[in-house]
Amino acid sequence: MVSRVIPVDLFDLVIFGGTGDLARRKILPGLYRRFCAGQMPPQARVIGAARSELDSEGYRTLVREAIEEFGGEEAKACDSLDAFLAQLEYVTIDARGEGGWKELQSLMSGTDHIEAYYFSVAPSLFGDIAERLQKWGMADERARIVVEKPFGRDLETARALNKTLATYFNEDQIYRIDHYLGKETVQNLMAVRFGNMLFEPLWNSQYVDHIQITVAETVGVGGRGEYYDKSGAMRDMVQNHLMQLLCLIAMEPPARFDPDAVRDEKLKVIRALDPVPAYHIVRGQYQAEACNEADNPGYRTAVDNPRSRTESFIALRTQISNWRWAGTPFYLRTGKRLADRASEITVVFKDTPHSIFGEDAGRHRNVLSIRLQPNEGITLGVTIKEPGPGGMRLIDVPLDMSFADALKEDDVEHVDAYERLIMDVIRGNQTLFMRGDEVEAAWAWTDPIIQGWEARNDVPKPYDHGSEGPTDAVELLRREGRAWRSLTPKTPKRGA
Ligand code: NAP
Repeated sequence: MVSRVIPVDLFDLVIFGGTGDLARRKILPGLYRRFCAGQMPPQARVIGAARSELDSEGYRTLVREAIEEFGGEEAKACDSLDAFLAQLEYVTIDARGEGGWKELQSLMSGTDHIEAYYFSVAPSLFGDIAERLQKWGMADERARIVVEKPFGRDLETARALNKTLATYFNEDQIYRIDHYLGKETVQNLMAVRFGNMLFEPLWNSQYVDHIQITVAETVGVGGRGEYYDKSGAMRDMVQNHLMQLLCLIAMEPPARFDPDAVRDEKLKVIRALDPVPAYHIVRGQYQAEACNEADNPGYRTAVDNPRSRTESFIALRTQISNWRWAGTPFYLRTGKRLADRASEITVVFKDTPHSIFGEDAGRHRNVLSIRLQPNEGITLGVTIKEPGPGGMRLIDVPLDMSFADALKEDDVEHVDAYERLIMDVIRGNQTLFMRGDEVEAAWAWTDPIIQGWEARNDVPKPYDHGSEGPTDAVELLRREGRAWRSLTPKTPKRGA
């Protein structure tokens, strides 16, 4: 494989919450893979910071175990773990107290490295950490901070959080992470739209019948039950991940691929979103798996709240009131314990204005689907003549472009979303991070939807484990003469 990796400038990355789940599963294994790829300079330092009483050696042991468990095949093949661990330090610190801050300050002083502070802790600690970074002289113009979702739970809390962070840092120092934006195919969305002449002329309400965005999971809430039950699918997925996908699929071409040009266009999409009436929303809660309730309990059991009204599934229809998209429905759906794991954007084009083949040939539509996971790729459904005798009958066939097949596997360097985003922080590139006004606009659209169902005392509809969600979600499209792309994995044809 030809390496296209360009090492980043020297940096010190402090991970507040460096002993936590996110750090162990994603951040540290991701950094190790960048180290193996030759992107992390030998003098760069990673400094874990949390309350646990560890010394740097103890922390290295913790990180070694995390990388062995979560690093994947590439990490196993790399065989440089000791060298990576030698670049790690640890400080025992209390975000709410004074202990550890002097030690961190002395570790960070005396270098001209880029300074990045990853807030991989509960959002309730963001303000405490930002305040102490300033108090101890670490919030200077070299500092960048990375903050994790959830960024607020409504407009009011998001505004308060933005205001707190703005007290200590400028907007160009704040990196609000949405790991969906770091995925290869999500960036490919922009490349496909704005790097080809083929699609853009058709990318509007004149040619597009509707767009579907689906993020479906087969897993349940797992160990996150307590957190999830206070959040639900709308806050956990739609307000951030699905909203970002919607922005990228619907935005106008930015003048340049630079952070503010891209984010300005995304913001315009969010601000043009129509409010969503109750009859365009379906919420659901998964049931236990029949015959295997012990292993796969229903949502309310999983979150230990028998009266929970939090949704583990949501489907909704919205529109974008601007010249490009007026009248085109955008259907969003996301949920847990569904039939398949799939993140996909589907652009369904309109019928041809007239069929020269007569009605017997059937009417067919072009469908462009962009898969984010699994098997990242793009499929364009085109209509052709069914081969063989029997006259002119039409069928749809996929022009399938799996990125793994199209680009020889050996030539592709797989970069996880977190790896890419952390390196972007070091490079100072905010294109794939959410700006404060974007987050607030997303909450301004989300809040009335949530307030609406709370005021109605809406109870989510039950749906079967491994299904496509509640039947009302199917009805949401069916009553408009449309259908969701099926989530149910196709059974292979006999002999295939
Ligand atoms: P976690 O496993 O509970 O870890 C929390 C970390 O914060 C631990 O390292 C903990 O270490 C540290 N901590 C807690 N209180 C502290 C204090 N007062 N001072 C200093 N350190 C403190 O949580 P997580 O799952 O890693 O999540 C971290 C953040 O990422 C959260 O905002 C979460 O919403 C977000 N997030 C997580 C995931 C994920 O997959 N886990 C995905 C997306 C977003 P000590 O107890 O040793 O202090």
